[in-house]
Amino acid sequence: VAWMNHANDGNESAAFESAIQTSYQLAAGTDEVTRLILERLVTIINPAHNPESHERFVAWYNSVQVTRDGTADRAAAEHHAPWGMNTNNNHYQIDLNRDAFFLTQPETIQLVRAFNDWNPVVFVDHHGQTKNMFFPPPADAVNQNVTASQLDWMNRYGNVIGEAFDRRGWSYYRRGRFDLFYAGFWDSWPTLNGSIGMTFETDGGGNKGLAYEREDKTILTLRDGVLHHHTGTMATLKLTAENKEQRLRDLYGYKKSAIEEGKQEALKQVVLVPGKDEARVRMLIEKLQTQRIEVYRTSQPIRLNRARGYVGGGEGTGAREIPAGAYVVPMNQPQKRLARAILELEPAFTKEFLQNEERKKRRADLLGAPVRDGFYDTTAWSLPILYGIEAYWAEDAVASNNLVRVDAVVETGSTASPARATYAYLFGPDSLGSMRLLAQLLREQFNTVVATELFRVNNRDFARGSVLVRVERNPATLHERISQLAAETGVTVYPLTSARVETGPDFGEDSFVELEIPRIAVVTDEPTDERAYGATWFTLDQRLGLPFTSLKIDQLKQVDLRRYDVIVLPHGSPAGYQEMLGASGISRLRRWMEDGGTLVLIKGAAALATRKGVEWTSSTLKKDQASVRLFFEDNVPPARGQTDATDTEPSSDRAGEDDASGGAANSAANESRRTQAPRAPATPASTSQASTAQPAAEDSKPVTRETELVRVSGALLRLKIDGQHFLGYGYTDDIGAT
Ligand SMILES: [Zn+2]
Repeated sequence: VAWMNHANDGNESAAFESAIQTSYQLAAGTDEVTRLILERLVTIINPAHNPESHERFVAWYNSVQVTRDGTADRAAAEHHAPWGMNTNNNHYQIDLNRDAFFLTQPETIQLVRAFNDWNPVVFVDHHGQTKNMFFPPPADAVNQNVTASQLDWMNRYGNVIGEAFDRRGWSYYRRGRFDLFYAGFWDSWPTLNGSIGMTFETDGGGNKGLAYEREDKTILTLRDGVLHHHTGTMATLKLTAENKEQRLRDLYGYKKSAIEEGKQEALKQVVLVPGKDEARVRMLIEKLQTQRIEVYRTSQPIRLNRARGYVGGGEGTGAREIPAGAYVVPMNQPQKRLARAILELEPAFTKEFLQNEERKKRRADLLGAPVRDGFYDTTAWSLPILYGIEAYWAEDAVASNNLVRVDAVVETGSTASPARATYAYLFGPDSLGSMRLLAQLLREQFNTVVATELFRVNNRDFARGSVLVRVERNPATLHERISQLAAETGVTVYPLTSARVETGPDFGEDSFVELEIPRIAVVTDEPTDERAYGATWFTLDQRLGLPFTSLKIDQLKQVDLRRYDVIVLPHGSPAGYQEMLGASGISRLRRWMEDGGTLVLIKGAAALATRKGVEWTSSTLKKDQASVRLFFEDNVPPARGQTDATDTEPSSDRAGEDDASGGAANSAANESRRTQAPRAPATPASTSQASTAQPAAEDSKPVTRETELVRVSGALLRLKIDGQHFLGYGYTDDIGAT
């Protein structure tokens, strides 16, 4: 089975059109190559992985294009789509080409299921945004869970496509820019499932429209882009057909050798402990199962002798007692490489890659230039950390007699209807489901109160943020409705017969505060980041079920803001926000806050609050120095003659904050001209070994140093949350974030 995937980034229009071209070729072609492909392969063509993105872009393009064959002039309006249009994002402005193992979007879930049903031996993801055609082999860094045999096949595919291009004298490139590191791209994810996943990037179409003037004044057309893709596709199908038996044996061998590796490598199992938030662990387990990763559950307590904790489980390697009911992902399974890639605490790199990164960093330090790391994008995604689950990375052999295979996620009592309460219904704040339940109750105008203090009732402790729904203050339909909603959201609801508690304030005290449904506005369009707005939209609409008004900045400056209790400014350029709001918009929002409005500022918008002329907060940006560990430094000896002194003189240069996403790099570059930071002493590496990397030894700690901030493409952070502030309700421990 060969899978040709198109229009993952729907605005890259040549990808969609080439699916039509290839379909026509396979349906109508009578030549030898087509017949070979039809005889030997099942070819699956998915013309639009991301149909909304494609439809939105093409409808816009056709509405502004002024001549039949397109305008090649780069300045033409048709090459400059407005906000939200020239994007590869789906309906919710979420990027499907990062979502493969996160499985947040319906397009992804359906594609993963279909992929697993068909097990393709090759999977090509067709894009289109480069100057000349790109095809594999990929650039470094390559995820070290990918096998040498797979990289060899990528070379072979790249060679036959290159030969087809050379016959026509076309330009192309391989090994440039498009890496194979992040596990959620639609080339790396199929590869980690044993297929040969490849990204093709063609040149024509997309924002280049029907015609586009190249640097050398020649004209690139959509047709060129389609033909380049189609040529690559046919060469791929031909090589696959010619090597059908070998490719099938390779796929089988991939899964079989994964089991063997899982038995031999140091990491034997990842253990997830449900703790307080069973629903959260179940969300992760369900994602693993959708990806055909085997999961087990402990029937009795077990002891791990060599286990290293993720966030929430303590640091260092040592013995841990694991309660019954914990989830175990053993590594001796066919899906080991994918499981490891998405669960591992720290990825491995080749020595060559690390040395190259180190050279680049030194050169950048000398020149005082920003470092450009070798990653296409994010480097940080370990799922137990992102889900905030107590988890262990264990070297102990899996005790199979104590494990029960989890075939479907078992609901553990949380959907059972609560008994009829005579005083009130109560639920905790510590899951997404409980927030969704609360939002729905508020929408249906049930009266609720929130606890601002800790209390204990019915032999159970409840956190700040717990929600109480009183029988006397609500219509008689409450019991039936809250039972239905509890089942839908998977939240345990406790019935109470009295206003009395065991410890803490009784339920009649003032510390229980009445809630109302918030009237929310979210700023959209310029200068917000499309994906950041999309994430807010998706969270409110899909995850919480809360209605909101989307507001452009112009309306924000005109309408009566008393219509809203909460205004959200998603991530965007701080300078862009300041300019578009203007002095009047900024003082308007300040007055609205002084009257009780709640302003939610995310990332770049939060930086806006610290800017001169805005100053909505006394907080400042910490952008000059931080304690960090650069990933390549563990195994690099310190250079000679470097100073131990760090110049901590504060920078007066504020240019770095103009764009939060680029600010750190600018700041680092500016600082580098003046100072050199001390180096950390060399220590044995835990990150540099290949896929057999061992967890750090018991006494080893990550080496950190005070340094200039360096822009890193992704970082895992441990957050300390003030659980007494209402924003921190529901959090009792440190949490992980990316
Ligand atoms: Zn793309």
